[in-house]
Amino acid sequence: MSGNTQPITAEPGAAGAARPGRFGLSKGTIGFAAGIVALVAAGLLAYSSDVNRAAQAEWVSHTNVVLRSISALTGTLQEAQSEQRLFVLSDNATYLFRRDSLTEESRDELRALRRYTADNPAQQARLDSLASAMTALQAYNARVSAVRQDSGVVAAAAVVATGQGELMLDASERTLGRMSLAEDALLAERQAATAAAARRTALLIALSTALGVAGFIAALLTMRSDVTMLRDARESAVASEAKFRTLLESAADAIFVFDERTRCVEANACAASLVGYPRDAMIGMPLGELLAQDEKGKRAAIPMLRIGQPTTRESVVRRADGTPVPVEVSACLLEDGRIEVIARDITERRELDRLKGEFVSVVSHELRTPLTSIRGALGLLASGRLAKTPHKAQHMIDLAVANTDRLVRLINDILDVERIESGAVAMDRRPQDALALANRAADFLRPVADAAHVRIRVSGEPVRVWADEDRIVQGLTNLLGNAVKFSATSGVVELTVRRHGDQALIEVRDHGRGIPADKLERIFDRFQQVDASDSREKGGTGLGLAITRSIVRQHGGRIWAESELGQGSRFRFTIPLAEERTSEYAVANGATAGESAGRVLVVEDDVELAHVMATTLESRGLLVDVSHNGLDAERRLTRGGPDLLLLDVALPDMTGVDLLDAAKTPDGKRIPVLVYTAVDLAPGDRARIANVGGVVVTKGRTAPETIADHVLAMLAGQTVTRADTPPASTSSVDRRT
Ligand code: ADP
Repeated sequence: MSGNTQPITAEPGAAGAARPGRFGLSKGTIGFAAGIVALVAAGLLAYSSDVNRAAQAEWVSHTNVVLRSISALTGTLQEAQSEQRLFVLSDNATYLFRRDSLTEESRDELRALRRYTADNPAQQARLDSLASAMTALQAYNARVSAVRQDSGVVAAAAVVATGQGELMLDASERTLGRMSLAEDALLAERQAATAAAARRTALLIALSTALGVAGFIAALLTMRSDVTMLRDARESAVASEAKFRTLLESAADAIFVFDERTRCVEANACAASLVGYPRDAMIGMPLGELLAQDEKGKRAAIPMLRIGQPTTRESVVRRADGTPVPVEVSACLLEDGRIEVIARDITERRELDRLKGEFVSVVSHELRTPLTSIRGALGLLASGRLAKTPHKAQHMIDLAVANTDRLVRLINDILDVERIESGAVAMDRRPQDALALANRAADFLRPVADAAHVRIRVSGEPVRVWADEDRIVQGLTNLLGNAVKFSATSGVVELTVRRHGDQALIEVRDHGRGIPADKLERIFDRFQQVDASDSREKGGTGLGLAITRSIVRQHGGRIWAESELGQGSRFRFTIPLAEERTSEYAVANGATAGESAGRVLVVEDDVELAHVMATTLESRGLLVDVSHNGLDAERRLTRGGPDLLLLDVALPDMTGVDLLDAAKTPDGKRIPVLVYTAVDLAPGDRARIANVGGVVVTKGRTAPETIADHVLAMLAGQTVTRADTPPASTSSVDRRT
C-alpha cells in the first residue's frame, strides 16, 4: 500500500474516552481552570480578609491612643492638682505657673480626646461631664489661689480643708476611669475582632490553597488518564488500521476507494493487478479512466455509485493495456463521502456461462436429432402403413435401433465426462501391463475395424503401469475408434506401447485425413469436431476425446495430438510406471506386499507431488495408494486397507479435514493421520486434527524424507511431537527391527 494513502475508516476504539467535553474542553483543562480560579479566589479572599484585619488593627491602635490620652489627661489633672497644693503651701508663683500650664495642657488633651472619640456618643457625653468638672475644678483652684495670695496660708488651708477640690478631682478621675473602662471594653472587642479576622484570613487562605492544589492534582490526574487513554486510543487505532490493511491486502477482490470527485485514493494489490497499473499510478486517477464504457455508460455509472445504498451491478474495466475485463461491481458510500468500490473479475464466470449455454444447445440438438428419428420410425410402424412393405418396416426398425444406440452412447458419454472430470469416478489403480491393455482395446475394436476394412496393429514392450484397467481400455477404445473411423478403407491403425523415462508412452496412429493444426487442442473439448458433419456421418458423440483426456489426467498423465493434414494423426498419452511406484523400492528394501512396513493412503490432488510422496514412502518399504480427490479417498478409506493416512488439506472437492472421521480400520479403530498442508489451518480444523491424534506438518518446510520418517515412526506407534523437524531416531530399519 502506498504511504500517502489514508484509511477508509478509522475505528474509534477507546478514543471516545479522551474526547473533549461538551464545550470542547478536556477534563484536564477544566481541572486546571478550576485550580487557577480557586487560587485567585483564595488570593482575593485573603486580601479582603487582610484589609478587614488591618482595619481592625487600626481600630485597636486608635483605642490604645485614646487610652493613652485618657491616662495622660488623668496624669495632667493630678499633676496640676499637686502644683496647686504646692503653691498653697509655699505661695511660690512657680507652682502657680506650672499649674496653669498643666491646666492648659489638660484642655488640649481634652480636645484631643474629643476628636479621638468623635464617633462615640457615650464617650462624648462623658467628656462633656469631664469638661464641666474640669472647668469647676479650675475655677475652684483659681479661688483657692486667690485666697492664698490675699489671705495667707491658713485661710487657704481652710478652703482646701472643705475637700471640694478633692471631690472635683475625684469626679474627673472617675469620669476618666469610666472612659478608660469603656475604651478597654472596646479594645478587647477590637482585639478579638482583629484576631478573628486574622484567623478567618488564615483559614480562607488555607482552604482556597487546598482547593487550588486539589484542582491542580485532579487536573494532573485527569490529564494523566487522558494521556493514557489517548495513547490506548492511538494504539488501538494503529492496530485497527493494521488489521484493516491486512484485510484490504488479503482480499481476493479488487478494492478501490474514490473521493467525492471520483478520483482514486486507495487501491489494494488485487485492484492493481485487475487494472494492470502500478499502485502509485492509480492514485488520483479518475474513475472514468478505469471504465471501458462509452461516455454515456460512464456518466450513468458514476451517479449509481453515489446513491448511498450498497449497489451491485456488472460493468467493464479497462486494463492499462486497453483490454476490457468484465467485472461485478459493488459500491457503497462511506461515512466521509468517499466511495468504496469492490470489483470482481467475472471473465471466468462469463466463459463458464458461455460454455454452459453452448453445452446445453449442443446437447439438446444431439439428443433431439436421434429422438426425432426414433419417434418418426416408430410412428410409421405404429400407423400400420408399412405393413404391406416389410422391408421398409424393417428399415424403420433398424433406424430406430441405430438411433437408440446413438442416444444411449451419447447419454453414457455425457454422464461419463461429467463424472470423470469431477473426480466422482474412482480410479481403481493397480499395477497393469500396458501392452495387455492395448491388446484388450484392440480386440474390442477389431470387429468394427474389420467392418471398415481397417487393420489394427499392436506393438511395443510390456510396460508395468499404475492404472485402472477398465478406464485405460475405455480411453484406448475411444482413440482406436476414432483412428478406425477416420482411416481410409484398408488403412492401418498402429497402437504402440513403450517406456519413456518414468512413464509409459502409448500412441495410436492412423494414416487418415489428419487434423488441422488449429484444431489439435480444441478437439479435446466437449462436442468439438474438426468438421460439423463428423458426428452425424461418423456416428460419434463429440465427447470421446474429452472423456479420454479426463481419464488420462486422473491417472496423472498427459495426452496430446500431432497430425499432418492428409497424412494421418498420432494421439499420444503418458501414464506413470508401476515399477517406479512399488516393486523396485519396496523389493530393494526387502518388503513385499505381504510383509511391508505398512500401507499408506496418500491423499494429494497435485499429481506430481503425490507421485514424489508415494515414491519416497515406497522407497522406505511402504505400500502406497494414492487418491487425488476427497471422494475417492473416502471410498478407499471406507473399503478399509490403509494403516496410515497422509492427508493434504486443500482438495478439489472437499477439505481434507472432512476425511478425518473416515480414517478408521474396518473394525472401527482409528488409524494414524499425518496432515501436511501448505495453508495455515483454521483453529477449528487444528482442534479436529488434534482430536483424532493427528500430526500436522507444513508443506515446503518439511522434506518428503522427513515426512517418511514421521510416517514410519507413527506406524511404529511412536509419538511425533515436533513434526516439522526429523524425529531423533527413526528409520525404516528401526521400524523393522
Ligand atoms: P467423436 O465421438 O465425435 O469421435 P471425439 O471427441 O472422439 O468425438 O472426437 C472429436 C473430433 O475430433 C472428431 O469428431 C473428429 O472431428 C476429430 N478426430 C478425432 N480423432 C480423429 C482422427 N484420428 N483423425 C481425424 N480426426 C479426428
